[in-house]
Amino acid sequence: MNVPAPTEVIVGIDLGTTNSLVAWQDQRGPRVLPDAEGRPILPSVVRLAADAPPTVGHAARAHAVEHPQDTIASVKRLMGRDFAELRALAERLPFALVEGSRGMACVAAHGRTFAPEEISAMILSALRQQAEAALGQPVRKAVVTVPAYFDDAQRQATRDAGRLAGIEVVRILNEPTAAALAYGIGQHAPQPETIVVYDLGGGTFDVSVLNVVPGAAEGDDASGMNDAGDLFQVLATAGDTSLGGDDLDRLVMERIEAAAAEQFGGAVSLTPSVRQTLRHAAEQAKIALSHADTVPVAIEFGGGRGLELVISRAELESMAAPLIERTLACCRRALSDAGIAADAVDRIVLVGGMTRMPGVREAVGRFFGRVPYSALDPEQVVAMGAAVQAAVLAGRRRDLLLLDVIPLSLGIETVGGAVAKLIMRNSAVPARAVEMFSTSVDGQVNVLIHVVQGERELVADCRSLGRFDLRGIPPMPAGVPQIEVEFVVDVNGILDVSAVERRSGRRAAIQVAPSHGLARDEVDRMERESFAHARDDMRIHRVIDLVVNASLDIKWIGDALQRVRSDLDPAYAADLDGRIASLRNAVEAARRDPVAANADVLAEAKQALDVASVRLHEIAIARSLREMPAR
Ligand code: AMP
Repeated sequence: MNVPAPTEVIVGIDLGTTNSLVAWQDQRGPRVLPDAEGRPILPSVVRLAADAPPTVGHAARAHAVEHPQDTIASVKRLMGRDFAELRALAERLPFALVEGSRGMACVAAHGRTFAPEEISAMILSALRQQAEAALGQPVRKAVVTVPAYFDDAQRQATRDAGRLAGIEVVRILNEPTAAALAYGIGQHAPQPETIVVYDLGGGTFDVSVLNVVPGAAEGDDASGMNDAGDLFQVLATAGDTSLGGDDLDRLVMERIEAAAAEQFGGAVSLTPSVRQTLRHAAEQAKIALSHADTVPVAIEFGGGRGLELVISRAELESMAAPLIERTLACCRRALSDAGIAADAVDRIVLVGGMTRMPGVREAVGRFFGRVPYSALDPEQVVAMGAAVQAAVLAGRRRDLLLLDVIPLSLGIETVGGAVAKLIMRNSAVPARAVEMFSTSVDGQVNVLIHVVQGERELVADCRSLGRFDLRGIPPMPAGVPQIEVEFVVDVNGILDVSAVERRSGRRAAIQVAPSHGLARDEVDRMERESFAHARDDMRIHRVIDLVVNASLDIKWIGDALQRVRSDLDPAYAADLDGRIASLRNAVEAARRDPVAANADVLAEAKQALDVASVRLHEIAIARSLREMPAR
């Protein structure tokens, strides 16, 4: 077999219906290559102007409304299809669809016909230039993804489009397989696994059931993964080509229009520009509600008619419920075609921008009875997986981190910027750890959980992996809430962190891919630094612990002192006041600068107060006994 030279550049391309991306894998793992303006996504839109070269991407999409007849969007739907099959679609398209050679569907503009391959080639060319600019090297080869249900003609058309763009398509890869590869699925599983890839985008929904057979494609690469794509068999696919985020946007628009009709006393007629504004506002509201509980919407309907309303996440979720139910019906169909029960699925991978919506994630999680994979950007994961396959084909996998162990410790931030490690470096995967935490302020109702990675004792010296809020804790004194934090790392190195407040049952969670973007040399550097700073780090950690404990002492002893001051010898009370004040000064200085703080001074001040307060506690207890109601 012809083994390519190790330095060969092969990129991964997600040639999508609405958007396309190009990605590359180096030793940090796969990443999308953005354009010169830093935009990762290239709209799959081409404008065929009469008197100028074609424009591709953002510019073509921005002017699509002005040039409907020669702006070609969603050309992927035409690839490798007979004109006869697409007659119904042709009537709905703003541009002309005609019958080309051998009965194939073609696009006509300005007296010329263009095969869909030619239009796709323009998109691929733009991606190639984007990749070349980002990498500073010529790019001539790519792995290109297609839907799992693409037939031979559609796959061949995709290869031909590559050839026309000066790209050798070294592999056509199924999109769901690519998404699984991006998560490292198939490299670590000891036995066959069933994977479901749930892909909900702006306009389409696809679900695929895959079977991963480890070792099915032993190769000559060090990882035994010479041909990663061959590990995956597609057992079944289902979907709906007109179901996606756009449908939800339409429902939100209707909700806003209904509110306008109510406020203005009758249906409002929409000019095309108001309709465009409304559509944009509806989508933005939907996206904002993925993070917020409510979102304000303000629309100017013209003629001084301004509308302001608030949409809640609960409202959005009830609008989305029937759409989500339709996706689950497709899942049921695909599972039944594959002869597999929902609870027998080992992993679920989320693809498509709409899977950022919490309601979608939760519904999918409930349906399959497990947390789906969402740690990677769902709009980039297919391109990233294509890059993983490209690196395998280019023989460039060797320098990747092997994830049989956790390369850097995983933990959370605690009071004062210290790190509590839950899973230690070099633990074997899968791994799990649970620890109890509490609040540090009286009446605290929200706790920020900050997940970090690294060997150092201070958050500032670690890598931040993600943060989330545990909200709605009932107000309690500091230290009373019991917050259970659980870390679970699975065989693919994906980390699920959840936090539960025991009394209220309040729960929040996040998923991250800790090894993503992490290079071998970075791990080595962090390890070296942890040795070099071990002594300092220990001292700082001691300072932070002392600050936390001394603050609690100051609070408890100060409270007791106020309660029983009238029972105390004034000289003793004054002595305690003085010791509390000097400990408070030491704590505040250490809070301001834990690195410069002297742990011994702090420990001595704390010890002095603790010893001096023994009598105070005895007096306080005696007073409590006296005040207890007689039986
Ligand atoms: P895709 O076709 O995969 O690019 O997905 C695009 C769809 O995802 C559009 O309907 C977007 O409005 C939707 N989308 C993108 N980000 C979010 C988000 N954070 N929450 C909800 N929907 C989103």
